[in-house]
Amino acid sequence: MPNLDDVVREIADEMRQRTDRGAVASYIPELARVDPGAFGLAVIDADGRAAVGGDADVPFSIQSISKVFTLTLALGMVGDRLWRRVGREPSGSPFNSIVQLERESGVPRNPFINAGAIAVTDLILSRHQPREALGEILRFMQFLAQDSSIVIDEAVAASEQRTGFRNAALANYMRSFGVIDGPVEYTLGVYYHHCAIAMTCRQLATAGRFLAHSGRDPSTGHLVVQAERAKRINAVMLTCGHYDGSGEFAYRVGLPGKSGVGGGILAVAPGRASIAVWSPGLDAAGNSHLGRIALEALTRRMGWSIFGG
Ligand code: GLN
Repeated sequence: MPNLDDVVREIADEMRQRTDRGAVASYIPELARVDPGAFGLAVIDADGRAAVGGDADVPFSIQSISKVFTLTLALGMVGDRLWRRVGREPSGSPFNSIVQLERESGVPRNPFINAGAIAVTDLILSRHQPREALGEILRFMQFLAQDSSIVIDEAVAASEQRTGFRNAALANYMRSFGVIDGPVEYTLGVYYHHCAIAMTCRQLATAGRFLAHSGRDPSTGHLVVQAERAKRINAVMLTCGHYDGSGEFAYRVGLPGKSGVGGGILAVAPGRASIAVWSPGLDAAGNSHLGRIALEALTRRMGWSIFGG
């Protein structure tokens, strides 16, 4: 078995030398200011040992990776009733697409496209004030990452709030079908803020450990979710976590994973490790270009693909 520390260090060095980086997201103006040359990788194995490389301790905007955690939280609140509001099939469409909503009575295809995540946020918000709901999401992240210093980047949230016309369209469209029922501006406000949570690769890999270990955080022994629920969240990550790049990610990396337009990816090697990678340049589907390449190298060298080898 290759040495994990060596593999992580080699991959970080290789990635930092590459010049094909993809393009940093610019539709959220504040994200366009990020250094495109940044690269971080953190892997936390079953024994809790962290192997890190590059900028693994630099915070970045987790964006859509937050959708894994809001899904987990919402399932804890309303259980499988959640699936009446949102489906669990791959969309085959870009993350911010509206076309499918018209065909399917405003019910989004899955919880990881923007429409689906906005519907999940609306569920968390029901019976809460926006501030309480947001506090609950942030505390959940801090609890899982075992780090109470994690904060929301207000500049990123405000930047998206000013320019999020497409998300406002999705939310209003779903509201017209009764798929979301809170005031649209509250739901969007909470959504933009949870997308704007800033975390490092090390914190994110720590937060994802329960998904790699049957719902339990092995370092604390806390059961975060039942094993069956962790298995199902992983399944939705595998099939839907990279939008219309999910097939390619499964083909090349072979792990459940969730990307964000900040350039981060959280990936889960069941029973083995929780992995977070960050490289801000994106491919055409809005997923981290070098992040995917780094994960492909990691799973190949460690033999970690869930499909064998
Ligand atoms: N906050 C972003 C948006 O709504 C999240 C998208 C993403 O990370 N893919 O557009």
